Order: sequence, then C-alpha cells, then structure tokens
Amino acid sequence: MSWHGAAMDRRTFLAAGVAGLAALAGCSADRSPGPRAGTTARTGELPAPSPAPAPPPPPTPGTPQEILARSTVPVLCFHQLREFRPDDSPYARTIITPPAVFTAQLQALRDGGYTTVPGPALIDHLQFGIPLPERPVLLTFDDGSVTHHSVALPALQQFGFVGTFFPMTVVLDKPDWLSREQVRDLDRAGMTIGSHTYDHQRLDRLPADQWDIQLAEPAAELAEVVGHPVDLLAYPNGMWSPEALDRAAAAGYRAAFQLSDPQDVQHPLLTVRRIMPPPTWDGPTLLARMASDF
Ligand SMILES: [Zn+2]
Repeated sequence: MSWHGAAMDRRTFLAAGVAGLAALAGCSADRSPGPRAGTTARTGELPAPSPAPAPPPPPTPGTPQEILARSTVPVLCFHQLREFRPDDSPYARTIITPPAVFTAQLQALRDGGYTTVPGPALIDHLQFGIPLPERPVLLTFDDGSVTHHSVALPALQQFGFVGTFFPMTVVLDKPDWLSREQVRDLDRAGMTIGSHTYDHQRLDRLPADQWDIQLAEPAAELAEVVGHPVDLLAYPNGMWSPEALDRAAAAGYRAAFQLSDPQDVQHPLLTVRRIMPPPTWDGPTLLARMASDF
C-alpha cells in the first residue's frame, strides 16, 4: 500500500485497530465468568446448573527467537517538548523537541498511515504474538518533564494518539516536572505510565545497594499514584547490563526499553529498542528512519 493510500484508509484501520486492541484486552485479562444477570432475581431460585464455559487458554509466550522476529515495530523516544533556550547545549538541542516540530512529526505519522499503540499492547504482541493494527508505532517520553502533560498530552489527543511515559520518581511534584496528579491524569487519559528509575542512575554500573531504590521502589510508588501495577521500565540513558536485566525482571518488570543497541538475544523483552528523533528530522526523514531502523 502506498503512503497516500495508507493515509486515505487511516480512519478505517484506526477503527479496526481500536477494536482489535479492545479484543486483545479481553483475551489477556484474567476474567472469571460473572453471575448471569436476570436468572434469579424474580424467584430467588438457584439457576439450573449448566456447564461453565471453558476459559480461553492462556496465551503462550514466544521464544526469544520469536520475540526478536516480531521486534519490527518502531519505537520513538522523546524528552522535553519546548522551545530552545540560549543555554541549551548542542547535545540538548538534539533531544529537545519544539512543540511545532512535535506536531509536525505527529502529522507525518498520521500521513504515513501509522497507528500509535499502548506500551502494553506492543509487549503483548512481542511476547504472545497478539496482533497489532497495521503500521503500529509506539511513542515514549522519558524523564518526566512537565511538558509531557502540557504539550505532549494535548498534541497526542488532537491526533487521537496514545503515548507511554517514563518519569523518574525523584522529580515528581518539583517545578518544571510532572506532578503526581499530572501522572495520574496521563494515566486516566489512556496513556501508559512506566518507570525510569528513582534518579536516573546508569543501571550498567549501579552500586549493589541501589537496586531496590532504582527499580522496585519507583514501580511501587508509581503504582500507588495511578492505582494499578506499573511494569514497564526505560533504562536511564538506555544503558543496561546482564545484571540489570536480571534485576529488572526480579523487580517485576515485564519489559524494558533501551535505546539503539542490539537486543539481547536471550532477553529481547528486556532490551526493546528505541530511536530518538531529533528535531531536525522532517516528516519524510522520520518515516524513512522508522522503516530502516526497525
Ligand atoms: Zn532519561
């Protein structure tokens, strides 16, 4: 399908995508059959015994090789969404995204026929092979800048898109950073909240007494903020080590995101790749890099 054709069909498959995700959620949720309404309300009699419907079989996790083979979905990583300031370093200017550039990149995704997917849906796809909409893309936002709520959220909503946000917990409720209420608001708006450690220490060289502080405690704190488990992780600076993978799994994370190193062949779910689109990428460049890097 051409880009143009994809764009023209976008509404159609967006609808299909949303329906597909809803169906997915039904498949993966651990639901027991509820009582049947209306069978006993009038008479108080017990309903006649009937064979319980067989629960759907649990999805089968893929092998590392299968997960690697499915790892073709582009994942983008953004940081602060704001205008440059005079004291921004040259490097900072490669990872700061001015709001108009962000909107243009979202427009390019829309014009390219892409559908944004929630983080858990991507992991369900990688882990269990559960289908995603056509041309899926995952948008992630690291660190916890207040611009994730003030700029990213309304822009995503304008396009009907979703994102996955990884705040550090040390910054919550501090000036220029997300408040706990804003994290809760992102979650309630259909966005996904993951962890980016307590204070952004590199996990490939972490002192032994820091693992709980950097992995388990932030997940527990964010879970308390949003009211449900938080089980996705983004490694600070994308840095990880074999020990970090073991520690992340032991802390309860089902998947973790790095940057552009090759995935670990034994632990591909704990080394999901991302790219950071610099603000200099126009729409065609962004789409080309998404196609070539994943
Ligand atoms: Zn970071």
